[in-house]
Amino acid sequence: MSVKDYIRTIPDFPAPGIMFRDVTTLFGDPRGFRMAVDQLLLPWAGVRIDKVAGLEARGFILGGAVAHQLSAGFVPMRKKGKLPGRTVEQAYKLEYGTAVLEAHDDAIRPGEKVLLVDDLLATGGTAEAGLKLIERLGGVAVGCAFVIDLPELGGRRLLETAGHQVHALCA
Ligand code: 5GP
Repeated sequence: MSVKDYIRTIPDFPAPGIMFRDVTTLFGDPRGFRMAVDQLLLPWAGVRIDKVAGLEARGFILGGAVAHQLSAGFVPMRKKGKLPGRTVEQAYKLEYGTAVLEAHDDAIRPGEKVLLVDDLLATGGTAEAGLKLIERLGGVAVGCAFVIDLPELGGRRLLETAGHQVHALCA
């Protein structure tokens, strides 16, 4: 079994015509979850990583496990209004309209090396906002890791053009 075998596709969620990649079946399987976490961090084996930044919400589940495995800290990057302390915000585009991602302004110290983790890369807008937050906080983005890449939506191209290393386990 590969990571992809544990992911199911649910048609018409959250809106008609959308084929939603559901990773809860991957998270729910002991072997699948371990395989995904191990494979996410493979390109950075032997590389110093101080913190893992996870994107709300499925990036928290994966990012927390990756951070533990690396003995790194974890930084939650949340949708606007959820974090209690002082934050920095980064707006990004959605299919319709815009959204805002936030991190605590003291979550990353200058020079810290940070790996960004999320479940799925589509247009790349969410990950790009997370990478900008890492850099605005003074961190060094060492790359980003996803379980799924939907290459036809251009996210990988966007992030690689901006100079970021992109790692995905399946398409
Ligand atoms: P992007 O900003 O790259 O267009 O969208 C990626 C974000 O949307 C990620 O945070 C991801 O969790 C979420 N996302 C979009 N489509 C799907 C999907 O089909 N399945 C899952 N699990 N997440 C999705």
